[in-house]
Amino acid sequence: MKALKEKILSEGIAVNEDILKVDGFVNHQVDPELMKQIGEEFAAYFKDRGITKVVTIESSGIAPALMTSYALGVPMIILKKQPSKVLNENLFHTVVTSFTKGTSYELTLSQKFIDENDHVLIIDDFLANGEAATGAIRLLRKAHATVAGIGILIEKSFQPGREKLTEQGIDVYSLARIAKLGKDLIEFLPE
Ligand code: 5GP
Repeated sequence: MKALKEKILSEGIAVNEDILKVDGFVNHQVDPELMKQIGEEFAAYFKDRGITKVVTIESSGIAPALMTSYALGVPMIILKKQPSKVLNENLFHTVVTSFTKGTSYELTLSQKFIDENDHVLIIDDFLANGEAATGAIRLLRKAHATVAGIGILIEKSFQPGREKLTEQGIDVYSLARIAKLGKDLIEFLPE
């Protein structure tokens, strides 16, 4: 997606060969006009999949997921990162290892909001090793829902996330695919 790639080139900061900082328009300050365009792009791509819910992981996926759910006319559900002590029998839960922080967290979904009739589109800001997305898929499978696809803003294609997901037969649509990061270097995959 041209607008997102231009924004990454003008405002993104490659911290090192692995991490891209996009605090100015995704992770800290949020660009609402860009998020609206992103939502419309995902909605157009996934419009024929019978999506009933859009699911994201708190917190950075919320803005693009909300815009996508609005464009598709379906609810958005936030998978919550919670300490184990609040777990109860009405929650599905799974453990995810965080790429950026190197720590683990508990991801939860209330049984109230997703069931076997749902076709779910997962939206997240980054795809790196695919741990967050795989955790989300585990939760949705516990709810017997169908994963209809995954929409990612920024895929780091040099990391194994996409492969892990496509191996499971899941359609991953990434708006910006990064081939290489380095000091003062952000290189996209050719379209
Ligand atoms: P994964 O689970 O695919 O390894 O990592 C995805 C999650 O880690 C994303 O939801 C995102 O929050 C975070 N993440 C991974 N790589 C980056 C990065 O380069 N920059 C930022 N800001 N977040 C990242």
